[in-house]
Amino acid sequence: MESTQDNGNLANVRHIILVMSGKGGVGKSTLSTQIALALRHAGKRVGILDVDLCGPSIPRMLNAVGKEVHQCDSGWVPVYVDQEKTISLMSIGFLLDGQDDAVVWRGPKKNAMINQFINDVAWGELDFLIVDTPPGTSDEHISTVQALRPFKPMGAVMVTTPQAVAVGDVRRELTFCKKTGLAVIGIVENMSGFVCPYCSECSNIFSKGGGEELAKYAGVPFLGCVPIDPLLSKSAEEGKDFIQEFPNSAAYPALT
Ligand code: ADP
Repeated sequence: MESTQDNGNLANVRHIILVMSGKGGVGKSTLSTQIALALRHAGKRVGILDVDLCGPSIPRMLNAVGKEVHQCDSGWVPVYVDQEKTISLMSIGFLLDGQDDAVVWRGPKKNAMINQFINDVAWGELDFLIVDTPPGTSDEHISTVQALRPFKPMGAVMVTTPQAVAVGDVRRELTFCKKTGLAVIGIVENMSGFVCPYCSECSNIFSKGGGEELAKYAGVPFLGCVPIDPLLSKSAEEGKDFIQEFPNSAAYPALT
């Protein structure tokens, strides 16, 4: 592992992966959480950094709402979401007074918080750090990519839904990556059809193939489709470990 003292709190983090989408509500936080859980089930130590300052939903998805972040000499100690301490999480959600509290900050304050999140969280040793970003290509993205640059992130996983409007937004996100020199690991098409739990037939409720077409157009890998799965949204709502609890459900094969 390449690690230098200069890398501070990220010195012992092997791989950094950003999860991005052009639009909100396409399943970015869900997939960030599921990627982390899948890696954990594969025996890896994983951290999740939730830089979606205005919509931090990962604490709920990992049943960590109300937990507290503590300080140590080298910064914030992230919240461990499992007893074995194999998944750690840092989110603005832990720093707000309550669940209904909102971040009403201008750009510079958000940028300062992102810099602190990237430099001042004592992650310890991690195989992967998954960074969940807000939707779009805002100031927060530029700050995140700039602050992570010295730590050489692997790149970004782009999440889209099959519809043309979401695909168009991901196209802009791809341009953002090109301009900022961030590699694209690949594109995931989420909410890609609904598999009937009774007859197992798949209905393409929105449309199909947008993610794959986009990947071809952009010359990046297509990583696969995740179907709409009510058990996946139930797991997210209730903070359950989907992979562990629903191995027979429609989205399980894609997420493992
Ligand atoms: P984003 O982070 O892009 O805003 P979220 O991950 O918060 O999106 O997902 C938005 C909503 O869609 C959540 O309620 C989540 O549970 C649900 N969702 C995401 N992906 C799926 C899926 N494949 N099947 C069913 N529900 C999903």
